[in-house]
Amino acid sequence: MSQRFVSRTAAGMLAALLLVFLAAAAPAQTPAALKTRNVVLIVSDGVRWQEVFTGADPALLNEKDGGIWDSEESLKKAYWREDVKERRKALFPFLWGTVAVQGQIFGNQALGSIARVTNPYAFSYPGYNEMLTGHPDKRIDSNEFGPNPNINVYEWLNTLPDLKGQVHVFATWDTFRDIFNVKRSHLPLTVGWDTPYPGATTPREQLLNDLYATTTRLEDEDVYDAFLQVPLIDSFRSSRPRLLFVGYGETDNWAHAGRYDLVLHSAHMFDRFVEQLWNTLQQLPEYRGSTTFIITTDHGRGSGPVEWKEHGVEQKGSENIWIAVIGPDTAPLGERAGHPEVHQAQIAATIAAFLGKDYRKAVPEAAAPIAAVVGRQATQ
Ligand SMILES: [Zn+2]
Repeated sequence: MSQRFVSRTAAGMLAALLLVFLAAAAPAQTPAALKTRNVVLIVSDGVRWQEVFTGADPALLNEKDGGIWDSEESLKKAYWREDVKERRKALFPFLWGTVAVQGQIFGNQALGSIARVTNPYAFSYPGYNEMLTGHPDKRIDSNEFGPNPNINVYEWLNTLPDLKGQVHVFATWDTFRDIFNVKRSHLPLTVGWDTPYPGATTPREQLLNDLYATTTRLEDEDVYDAFLQVPLIDSFRSSRPRLLFVGYGETDNWAHAGRYDLVLHSAHMFDRFVEQLWNTLQQLPEYRGSTTFIITTDHGRGSGPVEWKEHGVEQKGSENIWIAVIGPDTAPLGERAGHPEVHQAQIAATIAAFLGKDYRKAVPEAAAPIAAVVGRQATQ
């Protein structure tokens, strides 16, 4: 044992004693213990704040600019309402009927609530890197960047004794292998078109394997959201991880394809998938009343008759996102207005904070948690 080690240990013991002393001396200052034991970060790729807060865009409910194949009449019947609050709820019934009632949602620019990315690119890999590692990285300037050099909050939490082996990533997009740097992090991932049940034992599992093998793919690297939802929901039969990432991709793909009707249908289905996951977890004792959902997107998009399809520095406004939170430790403050800007980079430390961990001890450059959502006593 080196001298240096001895003195460090002694200093550590002293610090620990001091902490114990301070905690005992000032019980009133100790924040109330959080109820959250599980955190799920759910991301639907490229969902604009405009649709989240104002519902279907009337300028795009047509063939000319929205590229729709559905009839305008049936699309309007499903998603158009004169009243903006009714309209957004028609598109996202769980988000507006439950999450925004029992939790909080940031990013309605019409109310001066700004949620945005701090990376300079406003596309997927830079965005997922920012939310998962807690800081933007200028080097990551392409979705084909390759394995992420940065540690992310899932990887870090998975090294802690009480969370080791309690993490799982479900995502439609194959690139999450790189974003989570699976070779280094060894996180369990269910991603892309990988056969969902390699050792299928039931007709249901075999059927889904067959569909993965035979369905015509819109994107070779991105499986359909509905195909991910089945193994996601099934997974709780055999495992109960405390930290989950769920990534859906269709909302972005249909926009790039110029199909606003399918953007709306997939956004609506995303809302249903989140509701199904919430209800599934509330039925399980390990999750009931102790699970927090953070729901967001990786980037915004442009606006107007053409730019809604794309996103990035060329499409003005692509940096604008939205962030919603629901769980036992989040005060039900609903749709936020007049709150200081929140950033995508804050998501990593927020996840850790819900689990009582300080991510910034491990990654000092990470942004601070969104304090307003962590702890029922938070009022602003
Ligand atoms: Zn995209």
